[in-house]
Amino acid sequence: MTSRAGRRMRIAVVGAGPGGLCTGVLLKRAGFEDFVILEKNAGVGGTWYRNRYPGLTCDIAAPLYQLSFELNREWSGPYPPQPELLAYFEHVAEKYGLLAHCRFEVAVTRAVWDETTARWSLRLDSGESVEADVVVSGVGMFGALHLFMLYGPNTNGDSLITTIEFEAEHAVRQIQRLVDEDLAWIDVTPQAMARYNETLQKDIAAVEPWQAGCSDYYRSGSGRIVTQWPGRMSELRTLLETPDPGDYETARRTGEARSRQIESATSSRNEEDRG
Ligand SMILES: Cc1cc2nc3c(=O)[nH]c(=O)nc-3n(C[C@H](O)[C@H](O)[C@H](O)COP(=O)(O)OP(=O)(O)OC[C@H]3O[C@@H](n4cnc5c(N)ncnc54)[C@H](O)[C@@H]3O)c2cc1C
Repeated sequence: MTSRAGRRMRIAVVGAGPGGLCTGVLLKRAGFEDFVILEKNAGVGGTWYRNRYPGLTCDIAAPLYQLSFELNREWSGPYPPQPELLAYFEHVAEKYGLLAHCRFEVAVTRAVWDETTARWSLRLDSGESVEADVVVSGVGMFGALHLFMLYGPNTNGDSLITTIEFEAEHAVRQIQRLVDEDLAWIDVTPQAMARYNETLQKDIAAVEPWQAGCSDYYRSGSGRIVTQWPGRMSELRTLLETPDPGDYETARRTGEARSRQIESATSSRNEEDRG
């Protein structure tokens, strides 16, 4: 997308799981076409690509475990097996034209923000670098394969696809704001972050099953629960849809960042002319 000021936004999404794919669809819908999805696996699907053990199914009824804009009316049953879930996300990637944006078998090992140019530089395990104005993290929360997992109504209460969609919508709205207001960055203030974390940890402490002495994926090295949402989905949606402007700080782009942007837009136009 190019803003009124002629700004071209280059976006890098890390991960081609449900979250990365949903972000890709929403970016395209908002008119952002200059994005790449970097995925360390050889295909899309994230969790459902990596975990293929016999008997793996979805533990949330399938009509809930799907993207609201791509409803599948042909699930084989209420709790479909992994191959069906993988096929669903492969279908989403194909139907919404995301495969052309995907780079497979590349892991992002480092992300460095350059204040002067207002750009990210992502380091890949191949040794290459990818530059972007915005990076969206869709890396999920499971670094390792899970051969067995107890994860059900007592742990989260709903489909993660629902929360993923709210989060992706929020991310794309913030990217749109960067363009509209010609901003270099938008960040949550440290005060808002501390307040949010404090409330969240109190609410998490009140969820009994999470305090039963298990120490699995949802705890960080320090023992804190860092991946779970203790409230209702509707509460999360309200928070994401109506953020308090006072909780964010922003910065306008500097002259240097602007000229860098014009330079890269011109060089990519030249490449298009040559192509
Ligand atoms: C066995 C299992 C069963 C599950 N069952 C359910 C269920 O029934 N219901 C439910 O709601 N949720 C379930 N989940 C949770 C599930 O992970 C989420 O529903 C959903 O897959 C999260 O999507 P995501 O895109 O955020 O993350 P993921 O699906 O984990 O995708 C993240 C992607 O990012 C890629 N990636 C990570 N780091 C990098 C990097 N550095 N560079 C490049 N690529 C990277 C990964 O390879 C992966 O493809 C289950 C999880 C597991 C492991």
